[in-house]
Amino acid sequence: MYAKRISSLPPYLFAEIDKRKKEARKKGIDIIDLSIGDPDLPTPPHIVEAACRAAKDPLNHRYPSYEGMLSFREAVAAWYNRRKHISLDAEDEVLTLIGSKEGIAHSTFAFLDHGDIALVPDPAYPAYKNATLLANGIPHSVPLTEENEFTPDLESIDKEAVRKAKIMFLNYPNNPTAAAVEKSFFKEIVDFARDHDIAILHDNPYSELTFDGYEAPSFLAVDGAKDVGIEFNSLSKTYNMTGWRIGYAIGNSDLLKGLRLVKTNVDSGVFQAVQAAGIAALTGPQGGVKANLAVYKERRDILFDGLKSAGMEVKKPKATFYLWAKVPSGFLSIRFSLLLLDRAGVVVTPGIGFGDAGEGFVRFSLCVSKERIKEACERLERLDI
Ligand SMILES: *Cc1c(COP(=O)(O)O)cnc(C)c1O
Repeated sequence: MYAKRISSLPPYLFAEIDKRKKEARKKGIDIIDLSIGDPDLPTPPHIVEAACRAAKDPLNHRYPSYEGMLSFREAVAAWYNRRKHISLDAEDEVLTLIGSKEGIAHSTFAFLDHGDIALVPDPAYPAYKNATLLANGIPHSVPLTEENEFTPDLESIDKEAVRKAKIMFLNYPNNPTAAAVEKSFFKEIVDFARDHDIAILHDNPYSELTFDGYEAPSFLAVDGAKDVGIEFNSLSKTYNMTGWRIGYAIGNSDLLKGLRLVKTNVDSGVFQAVQAAGIAALTGPQGGVKANLAVYKERRDILFDGLKSAGMEVKKPKATFYLWAKVPSGFLSIRFSLLLLDRAGVVVTPGIGFGDAGEGFVRFSLCVSKERIKEACERLERLDI
């Protein structure tokens, strides 16, 4: 019944955890879910109000343009100029997306033919690999190891794969490892891309979720980056807007043209009232972003200290709302996650779910209140791991 591309997708690894989570909830067990990467805080009110106003305007009830309202794309360009000191042509170098995941998934259809190679980090956000498989491409795994601070070792990638690769996915600040890089890292990537004629697709949804004075560079901040790649960004994590479905791709205009061409045949753009909300988010008061960061920072510190006291090995992240912790020796990540669920009612994401190289780790997220995080830490300490 199904096309082969469906059966090429990896099995869903969290079925057992989902099942046990549901069973536990049914039994009335108090579950603390630290597995979700979805902000629990609401979208700031001025953004919601802008959407409500725009939703009442009949002009917005018709099909939007494929590439997004120029006013939204101008707001993106102005925001990138202000935040990352990068100048973008709103007409040709910004493309509106139905959330960045949509653009990531459709980009493989724009750039990969049957059997073409995509370099995909491992562990990683699963869409890179799965979108490659859906486009009948071949994902070539690039391991991110602790020794390399979860950045790819470009020299060690198989030479044949590098020669054949058409695109490479990257994501810093990183989900799930919380790794953060400096601009010099992107310089190496631009050289690599140029040397081997590989298009870089950098995914940057955590660009504003940074702590302790760290600022996340845009891939496009490096000279020549615009010649070799594009960057995805999103309003989801920065403005607590995961449910709204709005993001964008910026950078190389030819690559964006390819992505746009795929999209014109698949979707019909983003509801303009949502784009109006996006404009309000990008151009309006940014106090909400700062307030968010203070909340995440407090949660991060509580969870970090708690995990340490519970005997776990973990680094304090400079960015993202995740902590990437080592599982105690002798455990596989799924077994350890099930143990935390069964014995502490705490749900985490097993590292193997992000790729083979994620084995040996679990991901904790900071998307529940500090009270719940404290409670989770107390339960873990009592576990005596
Ligand atoms: C959350 C997330 C996304 C998805 O963002 P949307 O704009 O909501 O689609 C993309 N990439 C990574 C790495 C993420 O963690």
